[in-house]
Amino acid sequence: SSIIIALDGYSSCGKSTTAKLVAKQLHYAYIDTGAMYRAVTLFFIQNHITLTNPKEVRKALDDIQIGFRLHPETFSNDTFLNGMNVESEIRKMYVSDRVSEVSAITEVRRDMVAQQQRMGKSKRIVMDGRDIGTVVFPEAELKIFMTADPLMRASRRQEELLAKGEMVGLPEIIANLEKRDYIDTHRAEGPLVQAADAVLVDNTFMTIDEQVELVVRLADE
Ligand code: C5P
Repeated sequence: SSIIIALDGYSSCGKSTTAKLVAKQLHYAYIDTGAMYRAVTLFFIQNHITLTNPKEVRKALDDIQIGFRLHPETFSNDTFLNGMNVESEIRKMYVSDRVSEVSAITEVRRDMVAQQQRMGKSKRIVMDGRDIGTVVFPEAELKIFMTADPLMRASRRQEELLAKGEMVGLPEIIANLEKRDYIDTHRAEGPLVQAADAVLVDNTFMTIDEQVELVVRLADE
């Protein structure tokens, strides 16, 4: 059975939800790598980092400490930036708006990938992101590439934001998802691409339970 499960795909395809529940069921650790890039982005925004200045970026990365806390019962995940719980802040639209630009910076990617590789060392782990099966753990035993109909993704994202009290129109959400997917697939370092050995899962017409069941079954093989 699989030790490392890599879950990659486009924005808002339900990767995190699925990854978390698979981890819960299999008693694996779970790492949301998108949360790491979001935490870096929040720090860059708060500290007015010039993205085109490599020295400033390097210094900022050295000043960033990212942590996670997974609640054992609810399996909800909190992200910490330098000791502060930033879980709700990093999900807001103003962070989503900038995160792909920040994630395209080579220095940022190398730093995050190195941390992720350390986190996954000698552990059973489910990791979700964009480059887990291609860059972070190319040797992962199970790789899933998730996709879903764009309108379905946008309306799911809208519901998520609404549940957190942020009201955003569908056109703005669609524009954000399209922008992120474009930048994520076109960057020089670790672009979003389906690994040759990944299983493609289109979850447009699948429930969460069905997705979890499918991944768990594939992990058992
Ligand atoms: O997964 P989530 O949508 O929270 O990720 C936010 C952004 O972080 C993505 O749009 C992408 O730009 C970046 N990301 C990345 N590589 C990962 C995970 C996320 O570049 N492994």
